[in-house]
Amino acid sequence: MGEIQALRGTRDILPDEVVFWQRVEATARHILSKAAYREIRTPIFEQTTLFERGIGEATDVVGKEMYTFVDRGDRSITLRPEGTAGVVRALIEHGLYAQGGVQRLWYTGPMFRYERPQAGRQRQFHQLGVEVIGSADPRADAEVIAIATEILQNLGLKNLHLDLNSVGNKTDRHNYRQALVDYFTPYKGELDPDSQDRLTRNPLRILDSKDERTKEIAQNAPSILDYLGSESQQHFEQVQQLLSDLGIKYQLNPKLVRGLDYYTHTAFEVISDDLGAQATVCGGGRYDGLVTELGGPDTPAVGWAIGLERLIILLQQLQTPPVSELDFYVVSRGDRAEAQALILAQKLRQAGFSVELDLSGSAFKKQFARADKSGTVACLILGDEEAANQTVKLKWMATKEQTAIAQTELMTMIDRLRADIQSFRAER
Ligand code: ATP
Ligand code: MG
Repeated sequence: MGEIQALRGTRDILPDEVVFWQRVEATARHILSKAAYREIRTPIFEQTTLFERGIGEATDVVGKEMYTFVDRGDRSITLRPEGTAGVVRALIEHGLYAQGGVQRLWYTGPMFRYERPQAGRQRQFHQLGVEVIGSADPRADAEVIAIATEILQNLGLKNLHLDLNSVGNKTDRHNYRQALVDYFTPYKGELDPDSQDRLTRNPLRILDSKDERTKEIAQNAPSILDYLGSESQQHFEQVQQLLSDLGIKYQLNPKLVRGLDYYTHTAFEVISDDLGAQATVCGGGRYDGLVTELGGPDTPAVGWAIGLERLIILLQQLQTPPVSELDFYVVSRGDRAEAQALILAQKLRQAGFSVELDLSGSAFKKQFARADKSGTVACLILGDEEAANQTVKLKWMATKEQTAIAQTELMTMIDRLRADIQSFRAER
């Protein structure tokens, strides 16, 4: 039997990369809690019908990309391809909307889509998303966009732009759909096979085709903006005004339709100029129809999802190496020294420091090399002599300055150590 490897379209996130993920999660968590968003965690698999009804059977996600299987109880089950349907299902199931007012929720976790794997596109990938449920106010649209922008800016990302559109309400879309069918039908034979299929099932999606000839034809297709009724128009204008008031730049993109059926009114994407083909980092919009579609009361909602893999690729391109959090690296050699080092490391951790104990038992020189590589602020050194005297050598990596201290004394100078470590860190 050959070696077992991770499945195609999945990947391991190794410790050096996890540092970037933790930075994204911490930044998002901080910004979201400041804006009174609360985390929700829903199951990774759900009844298949949830996604069929919630996302729409004519979408690529449901039609081609779902991981669906029959479980041992003969139920059709699907690994969630996105987060919104599950969140709304939970909201309805637990009557969260009955608590009145607006629910501001966020989630993060793995999603599953059977797609052709490539850079920034996997079969198991991760999203972080928000949902504001219970408000039709254009300020809710502006708020979620502002939060996405703040998260991305806080992470130091550059060369991003925001595309904005409105897909109107049901009536607007119905009229627009007919206009698209009328426009594309004479070109039917020239469209890519997917788009030919979409012509009857989901003509809006033709605008999203990546095929060159289809894109050319779509250039002169009618614009959704000419089909917005006055209610939709007003909502859209208000959203734009609010974004301008917030100082958020955007460009109108009438071809932006998004892949999921439940969107109404605002649709938007944050796109990076540094990502090649898979360039959309964040996608979202309003989905006033979803809660009723899934059996709940008529409830407007708006949200977005960030694709975390693409974000991590961008962060890694920035090449700001993550800083080591290590305060002490403990080097020791000889039985007594090693035993004392173990205890010292434990005591320092209990005092709140981060401490790595070298377990190799190898020559001092090798241990020092590892200490250097670890990025630690200081080194603690115990050899036979220190063990016999119950002392320890403290070495500051930045200055190479080295002092011998009684082990008992070290534990009484915690405050000073903490201050010294902080000032060494600040100087880095
Ligand atoms: P795309 O056009 O790239 O397929 P989408 O419209 O299918 O995107 P959404 O359903 O809006 O994507 O999901 C939001 C975000 O999740 C995307 O903008 C992207 O960053 C990320 N994403 C979607 N599918 C994948 C995938 N298979 N692998 C990695 N990230 C993904
Ligand atoms: Mg997709």
